[in-house]
Amino acid sequence: MSSQPSSATVRAAVLPAPNVPPEVRSYPLPAMEEGAVLLRTIASEVCGTDVHLHHGHLAGVPYPLIPGHVSIGSVEIVQGTVQDVEGRPILPGDVVTFLDVHGTCNACWYCLVARATTRCPHRRVYGITYGADDGPGLAGGWSERIYLRPQTRIIRLAEGVSPDDWIGAGCGLPTAVHAIELARIGLGDRVLIQGSGPVGLSACVLALLSGAGWVGMIGAPELRLKAARRFGADWTTDVTATTADERKQAVRDATGGRGADIVIEASGNPLAVPEGCELVRDAGRYVIVGQYTDHGDVAINPHLHINKKHLEIRGCWGSDFSHVYRAMEILARFGRRIDWSALISRRYGLEEVGQALADVEAQRVVKAVIVP
Ligand SMILES: [Zn+2]
Ligand SMILES: [Zn+2]
Repeated sequence: MSSQPSSATVRAAVLPAPNVPPEVRSYPLPAMEEGAVLLRTIASEVCGTDVHLHHGHLAGVPYPLIPGHVSIGSVEIVQGTVQDVEGRPILPGDVVTFLDVHGTCNACWYCLVARATTRCPHRRVYGITYGADDGPGLAGGWSERIYLRPQTRIIRLAEGVSPDDWIGAGCGLPTAVHAIELARIGLGDRVLIQGSGPVGLSACVLALLSGAGWVGMIGAPELRLKAARRFGADWTTDVTATTADERKQAVRDATGGRGADIVIEASGNPLAVPEGCELVRDAGRYVIVGQYTDHGDVAINPHLHINKKHLEIRGCWGSDFSHVYRAMEILARFGRRIDWSALISRRYGLEEVGQALADVEAQRVVKAVIVP
């Protein structure tokens, strides 16, 4: 099942090295391996991780890099037979996305014994740890074509889910699905979210869908807090306009003086963590999902914040296929009620990715999207 692509070379936006301006380069189309799929890119997101990649904050990244780890494309070539998780064939013309993680081995100790596949040492990530010159290439979404290697987990867009819905939700939604899974929210729980980026905004929606009785959010800027209120947050406050004491008092006032039953950290700021330990109630649960890059140490008091508090702290790293699959189901079921596509603030061509990165870094946009 194959056809010839319409052009022999592919244009892609590349990060040549940390802190070097992005540039547009041309690449040849890779030879198709058995089980590989070539996508014509429809859209790819720009997320906070891409800003960190631009500044070289992530270890083990092989530059030059074509970023874009969450993308949508229309299938152009399928080499051999490729099926989705439900056994249906992936066919030319299908509009699909894919799990950005590839190569999880299902053979190592972490995969088989710990059942923690996001800690598998063999996993690689499209747009992050597969470089532009790595193997067949075209491994990121800021490119006219994306080459999906054999065994990439491909998922068709569900009926009623548009490319804008999926990209508007972006990597934030599957990440939030994972965080909410670990948060184990009970009906009526009061949930506080630190951070109003795409992960925090999706966590807000999913907390409400999980039956939270109250959802508060600490974040900035107002553009994002407004999106949180539109998504149903009961209370928001601007972290740049309040003190930690004021925020603690406000959360106490909203939670019977105890603190939130569950706090989800999605801010990326290490200082959020000791504050979160203060904002969660005794014997509550604290899920930390926002510290994706290493921004350094911070002091906590193990006696007061953890031991005596009887606090459960859970770290959340990466996503697996179940989170992407569930994210698609959630968009299919609730996408008409909750407009994730409205998070898209601006679209950028390949020549404009430098501007897109600057806009995301300065938080001038909620979600920036690359349309190659
Ligand atoms: Zn991302
Ligand atoms: Zn493994």
